[in-house]
Amino acid sequence: MAKIEMKTPLVEMDGDEMTRNLWAMIKKHLILPYIDLKSEYYDLGLEHRNETNDQVTVDSAMATKKYGVAVKCATITPNAARVKEYNLKEMWKSPNGTIRAILDGTVFRAPILVKGIEPNVRTWKKPITIARHAYGDVYRNTEMKIPGPGKVELVYTAADGHEERALVHNFDCAGVVQGQHNLVPSITSFADSCFTFALEKKQDLWFATKDTISKKYDHTFKDIFQERYDEKYKPLFEKAGITYFYTLIDDAVARVMKSEGGFIWACKNYDGDVMSDMLSSAFGSLAMMTSVLVSPQGYYEYEAAHGTVQRHYYKHLKGEPTSTNSVATIFAWTGALRKRGELDQIPELVDFANRLEKATIDTIESGKMTGDLAKITTLPNPTTLGSEEFILAIKDTLDREAE
Ligand code: NAP
Ligand code: MG
Repeated sequence: MAKIEMKTPLVEMDGDEMTRNLWAMIKKHLILPYIDLKSEYYDLGLEHRNETNDQVTVDSAMATKKYGVAVKCATITPNAARVKEYNLKEMWKSPNGTIRAILDGTVFRAPILVKGIEPNVRTWKKPITIARHAYGDVYRNTEMKIPGPGKVELVYTAADGHEERALVHNFDCAGVVQGQHNLVPSITSFADSCFTFALEKKQDLWFATKDTISKKYDHTFKDIFQERYDEKYKPLFEKAGITYFYTLIDDAVARVMKSEGGFIWACKNYDGDVMSDMLSSAFGSLAMMTSVLVSPQGYYEYEAAHGTVQRHYYKHLKGEPTSTNSVATIFAWTGALRKRGELDQIPELVDFANRLEKATIDTIESGKMTGDLAKITTLPNPTTLGSEEFILAIKDTLDREAE
């Protein structure tokens, strides 16, 4: 069969450890046999980031701005142990953080539902999509250790030179302090992408912050969402029969646990980080979650929500068999290929992405899965497959379903 042709290159961001292995297997077995892949390849593996002084990460984000669609493998965010392990020149920043700072926008994460992997929360019947603001707050903070007694203030020096000050704390002992910021345009585009995404999916939108405690910072988020809703989206929501609902973050958490799902939950950056891991684990597995960064300019970066699965990688290095779940990484590829197909009007590419997703789900529902899922499935007698075997089983299903 002729391979599917592409028009515009996909920005391909390779990564680290076990997911780097999965990446190569997915390309070899599930992509390259079917698609004449056009991609601009960026190696975000830690060694290459170190060699390029992390320039490669910036370049890959700029390429995403140029071409519009990227697919990213999980990458190591270095800590002190990694600096030693990889003999790094510096403790390079989180690549996701760097890319998100350049592209701005919102990360949408939704569980991949399959029969036989039931959510831990009994009431959840439909997926809950987390919309995570991808700019600022604690991810772009400035911190200081306070060695001893003294005063800490926030100082704003306006462009015209006048100053405004606010006391943070009068320390009478050692302590710590943190400065955070966000930007009105970024919060506005966060709100706009959430309202737009809710309309696209025809699902209610929930938003929550801690505005009762954070009367300026969090309250600004709440106000901007409400203003955008009143200015633009209210009639569209009414027409679509969906609602916008604001509440406090702790109330939202309680309600989510009692809900049946089927809505979009907009979260500030940190809340989204934490809550998406909670949700994906409760829906089954970190590896059963899609994740896409949507920038206000309409650039898309598809990724897996989990990390590089270091523990499995070390087993692999010792020559032991692994059973690492590749579903989230496969769905990063299908998400990116489908979007490329939509933008470039290549229906075969869209169709291929849909078929590969269906083959992946059908393979699991037929009882063939990786160890993480086999442990929690309600299907009788599941077959646990190795990392590559599972990918080959999906290829089998894909080829069979194409006949
Ligand atoms: P992780 O890679 O997500 O793995 C944590 C644990 O979750 C694994 O040990 C494994 O449990 C389970 N798991 C995650 N993904 C799995 C998969 N695909 N298949 C099967 N099991 C899976 O998190 P981590 O070990 O804390 O972090 C490793 C590295 O990833 C770190 O260097 C971190 O910086 C990086 N990271 C990158 C991203 C990203 O690029 N998006 C996100 C998070 C973390 P068992 O060991 O019990 O099998
Ligand atoms: Mg996280």
